[in-house]
Amino acid sequence: MKNFFLTLDLEEWYHLDYFNDLNETDKKDVFIFKLNDFFDFLDSRKIKITVFVVAELAKKYPDIIKDISSRGHEIACHGLDHKLDYNKTDKKFISDLNYAKNILEDICGKKVSGYRSPCFSLTDNKLELLSKLGFQYDSSYVNFDSHKLYNKLSLKGYRLFDNLIYIKDKFKEFEVPTYKITKKINLPISGGAYFRFLPLLLTKFLIKSFYKTNKNFIFYIHPFELNSSKIELNKLSFFNKIRFQYNRKNNMNRFKRLVIFLQNSKISFKKINDIL
Ligand SMILES: [Zn+2]
Repeated sequence: MKNFFLTLDLEEWYHLDYFNDLNETDKKDVFIFKLNDFFDFLDSRKIKITVFVVAELAKKYPDIIKDISSRGHEIACHGLDHKLDYNKTDKKFISDLNYAKNILEDICGKKVSGYRSPCFSLTDNKLELLSKLGFQYDSSYVNFDSHKLYNKLSLKGYRLFDNLIYIKDKFKEFEVPTYKITKKINLPISGGAYFRFLPLLLTKFLIKSFYKTNKNFIFYIHPFELNSSKIELNKLSFFNKIRFQYNRKNNMNRFKRLVIFLQNSKISFKKINDIL
């Protein structure tokens, strides 16, 4: 059986690091209100997913998170405020995540077991703290060195539990996959901007060939990549404008085509907590 773990990192456009300098008053919520098309599509395909939620958004809009949870999706945690983990002290990390986890659990009335660090910024030290906070798994490991914000976890003390899943004292780490092009070069193929930038045909090909030697795949996408509402981008550099905008207009359609392609290939969609 081939498994596809579809995950949504539920955050707003201004949580992206390149909008950090904006005034608080310019940070208007947009995309959290535009998720119905996405979740209706998943319902129509009978797909349940894992949603990593930035808890400050959940606090503002508990009914939206409650609706997602009541559709049968897993609510997991994507931090309190989407600030990078390696810039927080351990004390701040613990108090923020405790607070974030409580917000999400109060809204859904269910235990939150999973964490994904904003921009994959988790450190080895902070990974150790997650189980003490009551989390059962993390999905912040990506084997990719070339992104300036990412931090690569060492996974010291972990052993392979299953394809892309590592375990240490019952705590599991889910690797966001990359595609090995050469011994030294890995290409991120697991979503986000990489999904928007690669031609859909190529993504399909790479995922299919990944499955030749793997049985699991973890994929992530963001609300701003599922809806083409316009955002004021004047203050961004040319490079970041492209990074934000590229292919957003067609991306929901591309995403739907990818899902249908995978389902036609007999790949089964799972939430991460289905296999804990
Ligand atoms: Zn994020």
